[in-house]
Amino acid sequence: MMARISRVFLISMAEKSPQVVIVGAGPAGCTLAGLLAKRGIRCLVFDDDKRPGLLVGESLIPGVVPVLRQLGIEDRVAAIATRKPGASFFVTDGGPRLHFSFKNVEGHLPTYAYNTPRPEFDNLLRTRAEELGAKFVHARAELEPSVMNGEPTIQLSARSRKVAGLPADTKPLLVDCTGRTRAFARAMNLPAEKGERDDIAYFAHFEDFDHDEVEPGQVIISVLRAGWSWRIPLPGRLSVGIVVSKEHAKTLGSTAEERLENAISQEPLLAEKAARARRITPVMTYSNYQLLADRGHGPGWVLCGDAFGFVDPMLSPGLFMSLIGAQQLDSCLFSKGADLLNQPEKLAHALDKYSARIIDWHRFWQELVRYFYDGRIFRIHLAGKRLARQPSPFNLASRMEQHSTRHIASMASGGWTRSRYSRGLMKMLSRYLVWDVPAAENFAVRSNIAEQTLAKAA
Ligand SMILES: Cc1cc2nc3c(=O)[nH]c(=O)nc-3n(C[C@H](O)[C@H](O)[C@H](O)COP(=O)(O)OP(=O)(O)OC[C@H]3O[C@@H](n4cnc5c(N)ncnc54)[C@H](O)[C@@H]3O)c2cc1C
Repeated sequence: MMARISRVFLISMAEKSPQVVIVGAGPAGCTLAGLLAKRGIRCLVFDDDKRPGLLVGESLIPGVVPVLRQLGIEDRVAAIATRKPGASFFVTDGGPRLHFSFKNVEGHLPTYAYNTPRPEFDNLLRTRAEELGAKFVHARAELEPSVMNGEPTIQLSARSRKVAGLPADTKPLLVDCTGRTRAFARAMNLPAEKGERDDIAYFAHFEDFDHDEVEPGQVIISVLRAGWSWRIPLPGRLSVGIVVSKEHAKTLGSTAEERLENAISQEPLLAEKAARARRITPVMTYSNYQLLADRGHGPGWVLCGDAFGFVDPMLSPGLFMSLIGAQQLDSCLFSKGADLLNQPEKLAHALDKYSARIIDWHRFWQELVRYFYDGRIFRIHLAGKRLARQPSPFNLASRMEQHSTRHIASMASGGWTRSRYSRGLMKMLSRYLVWDVPAAENFAVRSNIAEQTLAKAA
C-alpha cells in the first residue's frame, strides 16, 4: 500500500514538474517562457535578478512587433515606449544623411517599431510569461557539464534541481538564455566564431539633448570622426551611446564618464546638439563584439538569444534575434505539442532545424551590417539619389530608387533580411550602380581620427 502511494506521488510530481527549464530571464528567456506557457508546456525560468537600472537594447525594429502581438502585450509596450517611425544614418563633416522610414515595409510588416526603456520592457515580458502560467525561481542556475555518447552535455547541479523542484528521474530540456554570460557554452567549453568587430560602447540617458530635424522618435546613427554613435529617443529622455575602438577609447579619458563626455564634445555631429544636455544616469560600459556559437544544441540542451550569438548593435538586431529565436524554438519544437521531448531522434532533428535557421539569420545580419560599417550603404544611397534625378521614360529611374529603398529598409526591419532577391539586389547596386560617387571608404566607420583624415586626403 505504502509503495503504491509513493509511486502515485512520484508520478503526480513528475506530471507537475517542468518539461523545459530556461536559464536567464532576459527578453529571450521570458519570451520563450510566455510562448511555451501559452501552449500549456510546463516551463520554469531561473532568474538571477541581476538587472542593472540601465541596459542597452532600447531600440526595436518592426520585425519584433508581431512577436509582441503574439504575446498579447503590444499595447503595454506602446504605453512605456516611444513610437519609432524609422532610423537615420548620418556621416560626420557634411557627409551624406540617409533616412529610412518604416513606411517602406508596408504590406509585410508593421510600419513602425518602438524605443523602450529596457528594464521596464523586460519586466513586461516577464509579467506576461507569469500571467500565461510560466514559473520563475529567484536563483542563479548552477550548471554541471558532462559528456553523453561522446557529445558535450549539461545538467543542473543537485542544489539547482532542488530549487527547481525537479524529481530525481526527470530530465527537462535545458535552454540557455543567459545572454552574454553564455553560461552553457562556457561550462562546456564550446567553441564560438568571433566576428570582425571588437569595440567598446559607453552610454547614458540625457535630458535636453537636442534631436536633429527628423521625425519624432526617429533613431539616429552617426558615423563619427572615430567610431559611431546612437541617439535613441525614449519617453522624456534621449539615450546616447558611442561605440569606439578600444585604442581610441583610451585617448578619450580614463573613466567611462570622461570618455562619453569627451567623445560627445569632440564630435561635431554630437557637440552642437549637446550644448544644453544634462546627463541623468550613470554611464554604462559594454564591450561590443560579434560572436556566434559553433553549435546551437546538444543532448538535452539548446541555446537562445545572445547566448547563441550576438550580431552587432548598429542595426538593432539584438532583441529581434532574441524574440525571433524564442519564437523559432517554440515553433520548431512544440507546434505539435510536447511529444517531441520524449522522442530523442525527432527532438534532435527539430533542434537541428532551429539551429540552422538561427545561424542563417546571424550570417545575413552580419552581411547587412557590413554595408553600414564599410560605407557602401551611403554610396548606394548617393548613387540612387543621382539616378532618381535623371529623366527617364515612365520615371523608371525614380521607381528603381524606390524599389531598392524598400528592399534595404525591409532587410533592416527584419522582414527581408534573409531574402535572396533583396541580398542580390544590394550586391548588384553596390557593384554596378555606383559610378560618379565618392568611394565607400569616405563613409566607413573609422577606428581613430587619423584614419579618417587619411581616407579624406586619398
Ligand atoms: C552596445 C550595445 C548596444 C545594443 N543596442 C541594442 C539596440 O538598440 N536594440 C537591440 O535590439 N539590441 C541591442 N543590443 C543587443 C541586446 O542588448 C541583446 O541582444 C539582448 O539584451 C539579448 O537578450 P537576451 O535575453 O538574449 O540576454 P540578456 O538580456 O543578457 O538576458 C540574460 C539574463 O540571464 C541572466 N543570467 C545569466 N546567467 C544566469 C544564471 N546562471 N542563472 C540565472 N540567470 C542568469 C542575466 O542576469 C540576464 O538577466 C545592444 C548590445 C550592445 C552590446
